[in-house]
Amino acid sequence: MLNPTPVLHDSSNPFLDMLSRYERAAEILNLEEGVRTFLKTPMRQHIVSIPIQMDDGTIKVFEGYRVIHNDVLGPGKGGIRYAMDVSLDEVKALAAWMTWKCAVVNVPFGGAKGGIICDPRQLTKTELEKITRRYTANMINVFGPDSDIPAPDMGTNEQVMAWIVDTYSMHKHNTVSGVVTGKPLILGGSLGRKEATGRGVMDVTLAAMERLNMDPMKSTVAVQGFGNVGSISAKLLYDQGCQVVAISDVTGAYYNSKGIDIYAALKHSENNKGLLEGLKDAEKISNDELLTLKVDVLVPAAREDQITEKNASKIRAKIIAEGANGPTTAAADPILNDLGIIVIPDILANAGGVTVSYFEWVQNRQGYFWSLERVNRRLDRAMRSAFNTVYETSQKHNESLRIGAYILAIDKVATALKLRGIYG
Ligand code: NAD
Repeated sequence: MLNPTPVLHDSSNPFLDMLSRYERAAEILNLEEGVRTFLKTPMRQHIVSIPIQMDDGTIKVFEGYRVIHNDVLGPGKGGIRYAMDVSLDEVKALAAWMTWKCAVVNVPFGGAKGGIICDPRQLTKTELEKITRRYTANMINVFGPDSDIPAPDMGTNEQVMAWIVDTYSMHKHNTVSGVVTGKPLILGGSLGRKEATGRGVMDVTLAAMERLNMDPMKSTVAVQGFGNVGSISAKLLYDQGCQVVAISDVTGAYYNSKGIDIYAALKHSENNKGLLEGLKDAEKISNDELLTLKVDVLVPAAREDQITEKNASKIRAKIIAEGANGPTTAAADPILNDLGIIVIPDILANAGGVTVSYFEWVQNRQGYFWSLERVNRRLDRAMRSAFNTVYETSQKHNESLRIGAYILAIDKVATALKLRGIYG
């Protein structure tokens, strides 16, 4: 019998947290037990062994997974993660997350996720390529532009996607660029994909500010994490006139009450192996201090479990825009709610990435590529519209934006499921 829910490890596990929010939304929707179980149960789970001849001649066998959580709304969509702590349970939970995220932003995809237990930093480029190709060959009947479309995630990148396109295309005897997204531009990637998640964070933050009658030009922002999502969110909010008073990365947090010059910070990080260490014109503070600064907007864009029941009562931001996946634990939700803090949940706030992934897939199918302006305009429109729908859903049910987003997503998938019916 299938285990309907991922096996979860402890009370601050982001996936367990996600499940508790799912249950709450399902309760509000009054979903019947069978549908509730159906929507928690992954539709397909694939486990493959990946034997590789290493550069030193030895043979090693890696384990890889791909889970299609739900394809009721369209083909599976989700990244592939290369990390030592990948597990089938984690992949199952992340795949479910993708189902809700796609539904929230109205992207006609289901949820999927993949992973290989390996440490990409300990592998040579040749070994990485072999692992990727063998994994793809094993998944030849799983992946496909109409069935399941992978993308990069932790430990994978454009190059890995290029190897997947090539391997898949070799087996199919023609070039199938739409089998993955997050590809290099020259192989059919989309303009604007790299900035998409940060741009989506900016879109929903501005939409929330509008609702609260806040002026971006008079607002202060703190951003945790200065990688893809954090640095782009910081740059775009800075471009909108916000004063970004604090930014951070693994080396610590950097604060200037008069605002940080984000372009100077980007340049510094670029010339400093991607790190903010040694940033000028800013006082070094701790990452914990950054989270509790008195700012208008806080963007956690680093990792999960940053806002917990331990520090939630100290948060002084008016808006939290979750650039990262799972930065707030379920136990922190009611505390933030009681403080009147508006939390734009991850499944909405960071869905700009999957939205432009969808645009990439559309362009691949059309064989016609859009200008950056067109990509950005459509992304802005999609994110704004998703924000408004989530906002209205949460108002209607007198719930937080997070529960509103889950209600919206689960209702969509459940409605589609009921229309399609149960085959068999
Ligand atoms: P990244 O690796 O590019 O950047 C992560 C940043 O966080 C780095 O600057 C790192 O130094 C910093 N960091 C790590 N630990 C930290 C800590 N304890 N305190 C402060 N900073 C810390 O990763 P990314 O792609 O920007 O992803 C960030 C988050 O956003 C992840 O949760 C990811 O799942 C989520 N996300 C990313 C995308 C995307 O398109 N990249 C899309 C959706 C969600």
